[in-house]
Amino acid sequence: MDTPKSNHQRRSSSPFLMSQTLWSSTEKTCRSGLTRSNDEKGVNVKVVLRCRPPNEDEMQVKGPLVISCDELKQEVTATLNTTTKQINKTFLFDKVCGPSSQQKDFYDQSVSPLVNEALEGYTCTIFAYGQTGTGKTYTMEGEAIKEKVLSDSFFISPPLKCNHHFDRGGKILVAQLVSYLIFHLVGESSIPHLNEEFHKNAGVIPRAVQEIFDILESQKAEYTMKVAYIEIYNEEITDLLSLDEESKPIDEKQRKPLALMEDGKGAVFIRGLEEVTVSTADEIYKILEKGSANKHTAETLLNKQSNRSHSIFSITLHVKECTHEGLELIKCGKLNLVDLAGSENILRSGAKEGRAREAGEINKSLLTLGRVINALVDHSGHVPYRDSKLTRFLRDSLGGKTKTCIIATVSPSIQCLEETLSTLEYANRAKQIKNRPEVNQ
Ligand code: ADP
Ligand code: MG
Repeated sequence: MDTPKSNHQRRSSSPFLMSQTLWSSTEKTCRSGLTRSNDEKGVNVKVVLRCRPPNEDEMQVKGPLVISCDELKQEVTATLNTTTKQINKTFLFDKVCGPSSQQKDFYDQSVSPLVNEALEGYTCTIFAYGQTGTGKTYTMEGEAIKEKVLSDSFFISPPLKCNHHFDRGGKILVAQLVSYLIFHLVGESSIPHLNEEFHKNAGVIPRAVQEIFDILESQKAEYTMKVAYIEIYNEEITDLLSLDEESKPIDEKQRKPLALMEDGKGAVFIRGLEEVTVSTADEIYKILEKGSANKHTAETLLNKQSNRSHSIFSITLHVKECTHEGLELIKCGKLNLVDLAGSENILRSGAKEGRAREAGEINKSLLTLGRVINALVDHSGHVPYRDSKLTRFLRDSLGGKTKTCIIATVSPSIQCLEETLSTLEYANRAKQIKNRPEVNQ
């Protein structure tokens, strides 16, 4: 078996024969009197609601916060009581994480079980869905990655990094400057506070990567891990890891949209996508940094907004296992980690759709994702997976044989209430997706 031995990233095609894994859904323990999606057999979509703390602007708005989270009952309540409008709606989810939930606890409770399924040979997908500014990227990537990029390149391009980053009053800038000086004067090992901060704020992707490596190393398993990082913007797929030799961020000319293809057996793949073989968590952190830098560069070059693009970080695992009978099995698992475009781009009224299409404002993939969810919930004969790149690529993750977690993110503020209610209703609907024995196209 081709087990990676060096720290160098290698691009390769799979040296393995894929083992066929049959999905059998696991039945979760039912808590008294509540019906949750995962309590039912054949349901593989779990919905987690995360509400972030109010930001500085929201704190200044007079009046109470309109969203409250009950983490024991796994309920979220939206409340508004003004002379003109009264709202009091409660939603039940598989898991609710309130504003005080920390990255580690969130990961351990909501995501870690899926990572373990991927290690067992299943395909698992985690989506972050919500309005821009509610914490999708914070949840998926965390802040540590951004800050590490900043510390590495601070002295190269300070103005760019400052504009990009400093909504928190320059505190990080000072911290990074101090860290940089300490780093160069006394060495990296003597700045434990930086490492602790990195760990505390790390999001789902770095934690998943670390957990996968920890488990595989503890099992002394033979394995290969390959990663790919793509972005879908305006129905064009870009490979975020296609860097030039000097690892500089790609420029516009290098950005070639990739085609989505189907093989003879109907499996969807992206032609020309680079999969990078990695053997340490550090390599993945570097890849994530490069991918994030490319996202930022692309944003500047193409004059686009990151809140209108979807990014997908995929980890493919091949783990060798020996059975008691002495047979060798290769377990082939996959984890897709998806940071969706801001949900405020979804057009909710059919009347508006025509006009938005003319203005080129429509986010086809996000719109289709909503339609796919509706079709799955309503048991429609036709599920429009083929209508967008995102849903085509992740067809098996919705209503298919794979295990999916939708993380819906919201703000607690009155200013976001309308969008928050839409997110809660969307997530609530997604909770009703049942597993389908056959995925219709
Ligand atoms: P999105 O990706 O949904 O547009 P971000 O992840 O960029 O939103 O989050 C917007 C801001 O809110 C960031 O400054 C981020 O640090 C902060 N934030 C988001 N979620 C949380 C959270 N759970 N705890 C603390 N800060 C958060
Ligand atoms: Mg974001």
